[in-house]
Amino acid sequence: MELHIESTVRYCENVGERSRKSWYHAEKLLSSHKSEKIDMPTFGARSQKNLKCMHPLLRRVANAAIEHINFTIICSVRSKADQDQAYNLKRSRAHFGQSPHNYFPSLAFDFIPYPFTDEDWDDLAKFDAIAKVLKDVATPEVAIHWGGDWATFKDTPHIELQDWRKYIGKSYNITSLVVSKYNSAVHPNPYA
Ligand SMILES: [Zn+2]
Repeated sequence: MELHIESTVRYCENVGERSRKSWYHAEKLLSSHKSEKIDMPTFGARSQKNLKCMHPLLRRVANAAIEHINFTIICSVRSKADQDQAYNLKRSRAHFGQSPHNYFPSLAFDFIPYPFTDEDWDDLAKFDAIAKVLKDVATPEVAIHWGGDWATFKDTPHIELQDWRKYIGKSYNITSLVVSKYNSAVHPNPYA
């Protein structure tokens, strides 16, 4: 069991690494082929990889939403290196261990509209439309928060489970495995 968890965690960390190197180019190619007619949206390979690393509740929400509106899941688990980078680039205010992305399975995910161009980062309406569907399909089974609703630090791609800290180290003990492996020396898990 432990070996399986270790390799899954490694897999999930590498999703982020692969994103930076190859997915950006792939996305550009894909979004230039807009003529392709699709009856109902389905998740592409990048989203599928991130889905595998998400909490089952979030996975269910995303799978229900994709039937209504098209989007890509660009991030789920964020490793220490990725979290440090996000912090340094001011994309996140959280140090490693303080973000719901830093646990396995991930208690948050980030999405972008599909198809997507760089100008869409500033298109609040596109993110809002997807967030509305996500919140709609999540209710009443589970409450989620959208980063676009935050007053002080708008994080429009971000979705997280409400009260996500309650999921750490309780029903999903493997999260503490990740925390103890990467986090013990500098940042002891404050929520364990
Ligand atoms: Zn996020």
